[in-house]
Amino acid sequence: MRVLLAEDDRIIADGLIRSLKKAGYAVDHVANGADADAALLAQQFDLLILDLGLPRLPGIEVLKRLRSRKNALPVLILTAQDGIEDRVRGLDAGADDYLTKPFALPELEARVRALTRRGTGQPTRIEVGPLIYDQSDRIARLAGQVVDLSARELCLLEVLLLRVGRLVSKDQLVEHMCGWDEGVSTNAIEVYVHRLRKKLEAGGVRIVTLRGLGYCLEKPGGDRVEKSG
Ligand code: CA
Repeated sequence: MRVLLAEDDRIIADGLIRSLKKAGYAVDHVANGADADAALLAQQFDLLILDLGLPRLPGIEVLKRLRSRKNALPVLILTAQDGIEDRVRGLDAGADDYLTKPFALPELEARVRALTRRGTGQPTRIEVGPLIYDQSDRIARLAGQVVDLSARELCLLEVLLLRVGRLVSKDQLVEHMCGWDEGVSTNAIEVYVHRLRKKLEAGGVRIVTLRGLGYCLEKPGGDRVEKSG
């Protein structure tokens, strides 16, 4: 899951980046509205966290432009405590949810989970044979046992689960798993896949490698691999 954070307050931004990364999200940060608009035009994200009080282009304008392009990306707006009008304008302009500053990080994380889950259009619980993944608490269980996953492995599993039975290229994995500043190579992706595969294969869940093409989390009983969009 890849999150774009548009926030000009360095302290708030740093706290958010740290906590979201720890939770296994890839986070890209921009500190003004113009950069947010440009990033949204250039790249695909799974969630936008948008401060409304941004320099160069107000957050509300970023949101309006996004929606005018018929982009349905889930958007969580951050507003000042006394900004009731801001909240109303934000929701009217197409935001999905809002948080009032200052906020507690656990609350932000809960809202991020809810919004990214809604954005996938998938049920809360995804089952692949003996593997059950709960998107609300982001816990994977294999035959009833919690699978111990690093943040990266969790992120990788999510990308594969949301495309189960379909081919996912290494480039797609890099795009969904890594922020701009992380510089994760496709070789590193191989390592993460290797580790995740080890943890899943004990329960009979297979990640198939399609040489030169990418990976596929095998659908139980599935016999063909579709190309993932
Ligand atoms: Ca601000």
